[in-house]
Amino acid sequence: MAEETIKTTCPYCGVGCGLILSRGRTGWEVGGDPDHPANKGRLCSKGAALMDTVRAEDAGAVRLLHPEVDGRRATWDEAVAATADRLRKTVEAHGPDAVAFYVSGQLLTEDYYVANKLLKGFIGSPHIDTNSRLCMASTVAGHKRAFGADAVPGNYEDLELADLVVLTGSNLAWCHPVLAQRLRAARRDRGTKVVVIDPRETATCDFADLHLKIRPGTDVALFNGLLAHLARTGALDAVYVARHVSGLEAALEAAEADAPDVAETCGLRRADLTLFYHWAATTPRTVTVFSQGVNQSSRGTDKVNAILNVHLATGRIGKPGASPFSVTGQPNAMGGREVGGLANQLAAHMNPDDPHDVDRLRRFWKAPALRGGQGLKAVDLFRAVRDGRIKALWIMATNPAVSLPESDLVREALALCPTVIVSDVVADTDTMRHAHIRLPAAAWGEKDGTVTNSERRISRQRAFRPLPGEARPDWRIMTDVARALGHGAAFPYKRPADIFREHAAVSAFENDGARAFDIGALAAIRPKAFETLAPVQWPAPKEAPAGTARMYGDGRFTHANGRGRMIAVRQTAPAERASLRYPLILNTGRYRDQWHTMTRTGLSARLSAHRPEPLVEVHPDDAGALTEGGLARVTSGLGSLLARVTMTEAQRPGEVFLPMHWSDTTAAAGAVGRLVAGHVDALSGQPESKHVPVRVEPWTPAWEGLLLCRAAPDLSALPYWVRRAAGPCLAYELAGDAAPDLDLAGLSPMEFTDPRHGVVRRAWMDGDRLEAVLFSGADRPVVARSWLVELFAAGALSAADRAVLLAGRAPEGSGVEDGGMVCSCHAVSREAITAAVAGGAVTTEDIGRRTRAGTGCGSCLPEIKDILRRAKPAVAA
Ligand code: SF4
Repeated sequence: MAEETIKTTCPYCGVGCGLILSRGRTGWEVGGDPDHPANKGRLCSKGAALMDTVRAEDAGAVRLLHPEVDGRRATWDEAVAATADRLRKTVEAHGPDAVAFYVSGQLLTEDYYVANKLLKGFIGSPHIDTNSRLCMASTVAGHKRAFGADAVPGNYEDLELADLVVLTGSNLAWCHPVLAQRLRAARRDRGTKVVVIDPRETATCDFADLHLKIRPGTDVALFNGLLAHLARTGALDAVYVARHVSGLEAALEAAEADAPDVAETCGLRRADLTLFYHWAATTPRTVTVFSQGVNQSSRGTDKVNAILNVHLATGRIGKPGASPFSVTGQPNAMGGREVGGLANQLAAHMNPDDPHDVDRLRRFWKAPALRGGQGLKAVDLFRAVRDGRIKALWIMATNPAVSLPESDLVREALALCPTVIVSDVVADTDTMRHAHIRLPAAAWGEKDGTVTNSERRISRQRAFRPLPGEARPDWRIMTDVARALGHGAAFPYKRPADIFREHAAVSAFENDGARAFDIGALAAIRPKAFETLAPVQWPAPKEAPAGTARMYGDGRFTHANGRGRMIAVRQTAPAERASLRYPLILNTGRYRDQWHTMTRTGLSARLSAHRPEPLVEVHPDDAGALTEGGLARVTSGLGSLLARVTMTEAQRPGEVFLPMHWSDTTAAAGAVGRLVAGHVDALSGQPESKHVPVRVEPWTPAWEGLLLCRAAPDLSALPYWVRRAAGPCLAYELAGDAAPDLDLAGLSPMEFTDPRHGVVRRAWMDGDRLEAVLFSGADRPVVARSWLVELFAAGALSAADRAVLLAGRAPEGSGVEDGGMVCSCHAVSREAITAAVAGGAVTTEDIGRRTRAGTGCGSCLPEIKDILRRAKPAVAA
């Protein structure tokens, strides 16, 4: 029986699922909250494994537990004084513009609010930007152009009420899995048609009625073509447009100019395009879901407006089952947008370029230092650090040395910057390695406040664990620094509820409806009511305290004249094209079971088993000398990295894919940001992370190996290594040119060598306990990895295990499985599923009944179907 339960929210994607933490005899366990409107009890593999990551944090030396100044442990008083002192001296010597903050969609709204107020209002610099710049800045810009406010009109229920759901630039099955579950169920129950527009055949295509494998960067042509088709076929809502929308004529003229040969421009079959356009024209209840595939582009804002144009012209906005819908990547990207965390925003949807808004906020905050004008956006901000214009940089809850484009330039900038302050949960990240002041921050489970999900729903995140070591919440760290800078009167906060009240009050301050974000109904919330605050969708002004399910359904938009605006946009090419030197186009994105730079999900053995190494996915037509499972060097105009090759017809010929998750702490040189140039959208500043010209060449090392060990060794001499958590040990895939020369644990190894075949096998024992084991050879060693991991879990090796250890083979009949994890929710391996197929399972339901695989979040269903297809080609999955 659970003794205690606490409701909170998931810290990963923008779905913002509600969780229930229950404390039983064995500690805290996580489950989906059936009462939370975002997920109604569902979870995905990442959410379900949250306690794995918390326990792994506790077990390993992962957390930053104490403040440090210039490499020495410091007290909080010393660290706060040093931070304040360096910020003050920077301002005195170089002016406020020499100070910048780079923050994160991982912060809670209260943290974000204080960061924004401190920098813009009291230090007087406009240069605060957030990693949400990499995620949805183009949507923010597109929303503002079309609606007059950064507001998502619809909600999740619309995906269930729609008759047609168009997913464009969104691998919903992997990136927003619970929304994918809801859509999959709606399709099953009421026959919703699903169209996927994506250059790759992703897991989302598994439940698509039509997949448009579009040429990357041609989305504007596709949606302009649709607008022109709607006009030609009389499918526009002329009455709605006349009453509520401006700009139809110019937008249509631009669309028609792009329309002559959309199929050719987009690389699509004419029949597929015609079918899509026909469905879109004849289905009033249409929802268009869009995400990073649209946003991460040098033309991202135009792509967003091409989509919004179609919805404005048909009146399909803010109505049940009919709306455009942006899904955000991060848990609190939306909260950051509300407090003005982007360099081109002020708090509560105020505009830094509007002198009235600047004056309004200055009066509300009593902040004479607040200036108008926009700050530097992420890419430009780090260039300014590198150029010496910014001399003090405070980074919170993010890892820009990995996640930003031009990541070598970012690392150089951090190395050159006179003052780098990093607040984070994790002791070792690529970014933290450059910090002069290291501040231990509270993690999920320890912090308290609010987040806003993709459907504008504000939910509580609640602490259920004590703070470890000397970690503190971000809002408190910044409040203390603000006080040390002499601004105590403006930062009187004792608890998150104090900050939330002020945030709510500023949203309603002199707001006669001109600003969409208004949560004035919560401006007087008492701490007790804040504790029990139920999820609520903004706007929630005083007159509508229950919140607002949908916006703009009445056709009244936030622009001063109340009308929505169609924007004339034209198809233009991405910033760079393929060339003889770089003939392939690289797309980047997420894996199902990993999150961002893996500082949290990378700690879970279960999550790490799904894709243990970064794979460069290549179409067979582009194979050349590449081999399946071999290693390859991927090179762009900026840099290169090594990755393992997998051939797949899911890619279009001429295009390759790499994941975004690996860093220099989890791989030899894993950051894909090294390859990505800093081309940005002119309006939104969002980088083009999905269209990078590269070449991919085979890389043949002298040897490849597998190393399992209890503690991380120094592998800096190796050109290729990738680490993953494997429960009782760490697992490394290795490759090199010089012979492997690893000195581990100061112990003498048992050794088997076969010089003729270049085989080296070593095991390091401490008494009967296995400390490390290495298998290497000219080819990638074929060994029973799962069995070896089990040996680390055992306290002492048996004589039988010891006898066969260096053979790398599990003893006969041990029943170990080794083909990787397919279903992370129920820890079901490839072998178990293959065995079920061999035992007579012919459908995914059969597999689910026999193994439970695919009965959790459902994200693994495409892989299960693939196993079924390969095993029994004649059987329909
Ligand atoms: S879909 Fe998964 S990762 Fe996203 S919020 Fe829900 S449980 Fe977390």
